Amino acid sequence: MANRRSFIKQSLMVSVASLFPFRFTKADVNEPTIGIMPAASGQPMVISTWSHGLAANEAAALIIDAGGKALDAVEKGVHVPEADPETMSVGLGGLPDSEGNVTLDACIMAPSGNAGSVTYLQHILHPVSVARKVMENTPHVILSGEGALKFALDNGFEKTNLLTDKAKAEWEKWKSSGAHYAPNANWENHDTIGLLAMDASGDLAGACTTSGMAFKHPGRVGDSPVIGAGLFVDNKIGAATATGEGEAVLKTLGSFLIVEFMRNGMHPQQACEAAIQRLTEAVKVHDNMQVGYLAINKAGEIGAFALRKGFQYAVYQNGEHKLIDAGFLFEWK
Ligand code: ASP
Repeated sequence: MANRRSFIKQSLMVSVASLFPFRFTKADVNEPTIGIMPAASGQPMVISTWSHGLAANEAAALIIDAGGKALDAVEKGVHVPEADPETMSVGLGGLPDSEGNVTLDACIMAPSGNAGSVTYLQHILHPVSVARKVMENTPHVILSGEGALKFALDNGFEKTNLLTDKAKAEWEKWKSSGAHYAPNANWENHDTIGLLAMDASGDLAGACTTSGMAFKHPGRVGDSPVIGAGLFVDNKIGAATATGEGEAVLKTLGSFLIVEFMRNGMHPQQACEAAIQRLTEAVKVHDNMQVGYLAINKAGEIGAFALRKGFQYAVYQNGEHKLIDAGFLFEWK
């Protein structure tokens, strides 16, 4: 109830703010109440979605603590779940689509505002690194499917079998049950990894990578590789990332929305809560829907909020790694 009350109080404030978008400054808003960390501008920090974010943050922290760049930190950070066969929602070991193919979506965004993305990519262990090459070596932002695979192979990536025995067995069980695809974004409580980092220069970068919704329709692309939906970075303002049912995030362009809320003066926590509020107004929320948002601003303040209970995020700050339960709007039915 406390969460809900705080949400309602803040959403009232949000609707007033939307009437006067450019007059709404940080000084006008209520102090947020959930998931707030002290400001730490210029201090290296890393935040990421779900418990698999802990290991990813460790890899990212090694880079920024050694004076490395946020962009390298986010790429190397998400390599960890991409290569972990036990993480069944990202890269190797990810649950396949309805035809048994593991198809990957990933994107990356640099402090310069440059961005790269791959969608519906198969057979490549580190789609985020292909996305980085798209960003750095082509005039494009998004490469998809066969074209993305050709680009990866042309750039020295090798084909890997990403379908593990465990994921294949889950798919066979699903198939033999005669089930039809239905979104279930909180499958075993570990989903997409979205990772945001601030380096010692105070620069922000982000990466987001996933095998998408389990047993999805072949060809389906979610929010994760779409700049502004699964990830957005504006190095002057802040960065945000999303996890959960991509269709709902796509329809509300969640990460871009959060950064715009921060631009208009909201604390990252308030911005994440306001984006969940917007989602409930814009899409039909069904009983299995989960969406979680995570954000950081230029001052190193962070926020997180989810549609439903269960979203966790990992934080690396002041040399310490933590896993934190995000605030949420609804309990599961
Ligand atoms: N957002 C991802 C997608 O829709 C899935 C997830 O986060 O679980 O593909």
